[in-house]
Amino acid sequence: MKRTLQRGNLTLEYEFTPKRVKNINLRVRGDGSVAVSAPRWVGKAQVEAFLLERWDWLQAAQNRTKQRQQTDFGWRQGEVFHLLGQPVVVEHQTGAKATVLLQNDVLTMTLPNPDKAAAVGERWYDAFCRGELARLEECAWAKFAAKGTAKPTLRLRWMTSRWGSCISKQGKITLNKRLFSLPTELAEYVLLHEYCHLLHADHQAGFYALLEEFAPNRKQLDQELKSGKYRFVR
Ligand SMILES: [Zn+2]
Repeated sequence: MKRTLQRGNLTLEYEFTPKRVKNINLRVRGDGSVAVSAPRWVGKAQVEAFLLERWDWLQAAQNRTKQRQQTDFGWRQGEVFHLLGQPVVVEHQTGAKATVLLQNDVLTMTLPNPDKAAAVGERWYDAFCRGELARLEECAWAKFAAKGTAKPTLRLRWMTSRWGSCISKQGKITLNKRLFSLPTELAEYVLLHEYCHLLHADHQAGFYALLEEFAPNRKQLDQELKSGKYRFVR
């Protein structure tokens, strides 16, 4: 049976099924819908308390699903993506020469041929990333340089399952191009995480102690990274 649960101004819809099970079971389906099953003797209030305890997790799981469904971002008219944490809307106009102009929250793409929008958009994003990388590196390294390690070389790549990686012996750090959809604070946090690997290759206590010198709120930042609320161009 369909039920709804209200929290603040957010409403959660879920499908409740009484079953011969031992515990309350919760699942976010591929389409983002929420399914709950529970033993018959579990009351509605108990189910709702269970859901409220997992509210943030549920929101994040639903956001991730939404994002997966929208992965076909294609630089089309009216599409929205995030840049440094802010939503930006794509607008097309025709013109003889392909140009891209970012003003406030609008990305105006002048296109001789709208079929080429993705290629033009990706080229623009690449250049944007290169410019932002220099700025990001400057800010993060200003904080980390005092640790006395050699400055690593940075490169950008599209990565699907991680924000960055570090080969400490070679002094090489790779960052995900998606980083530039995130707020600057988060991107800097990711780079500082990789810088910390220059001194601690693992994720043991020493690593986290060092990271917390730069990001005392790291757990909150980790949550934010996993929130799934930012839309990437790829
Ligand atoms: Zn790490």
